[in-house]
Amino acid sequence: MGVYHITYAPKPKELCVYFDGPCNFSCHGCICGSHPLDVHLAGNPRGVRASISAEEALRLVKGLDFEKVIFMGFEPTVNLDFYKLAREMKARFDSYNVLLTNGYRLVKEPIVDSACVSIKAVSEGLFRRFTGRCGSRRVLMNFRRYRELGVELRAESVLVPGLIDAEEIERVASFIAEVDPEIPYRIDGYIPMKEDEYRRPTVEELEEAKERARRHLRNVSILHHKMKPRYAVKRVY
Ligand code: SF4
Repeated sequence: MGVYHITYAPKPKELCVYFDGPCNFSCHGCICGSHPLDVHLAGNPRGVRASISAEEALRLVKGLDFEKVIFMGFEPTVNLDFYKLAREMKARFDSYNVLLTNGYRLVKEPIVDSACVSIKAVSEGLFRRFTGRCGSRRVLMNFRRYRELGVELRAESVLVPGLIDAEEIERVASFIAEVDPEIPYRIDGYIPMKEDEYRRPTVEELEEAKERARRHLRNVSILHHKMKPRYAVKRVY
């Protein structure tokens, strides 16, 4: 267990720290498995390095001018190094900590300032088909708990034509609106694996899902493969 990749974006003063899992979900087409490195890196680099400990990661970043740390990769909350690193980033660098999570395990300790919860589905059958396990209610409950804990909240879902369609995206949006209709919600286009039974959604399908989500939420965006990165990033590890 540990950190397998770190990137740094000087303009927004951001670090992205990637954990190596294992994840507690087995999502169909897991993006971390197929695209393990930061997609913003120039030149499409390959090669995942051996994992390093929280202490080694802290040593590598200590000279960098950063304010925000984004904890991501394979589910951080199941990784002990995530807790060590989040605590130390706050204690040593007074960082603003952002957690990207599947929401199955709640972090109650005040080491997370912002959580972006990937809500795979609200319908239990679809949730199970996509993630390989039961637990949609638990994720939704934890989403509410983050709000109660005073953590800044965002949400994401993946539009997978034939599995997670616009109808389900609207159900997710409706749930988020019950918590707060101002919570930002991003809909990502699914990226298929080789010989996948599911395909990439078209931009029109993403726009349709966005329109349906906007019936409930005020701040909805989409992400697809034709979009360009907003700023340059450097590989730290
Ligand atoms: S929760 Fe994320 S890391 Fe885990 S299997 Fe799903 S896509 Fe992969």
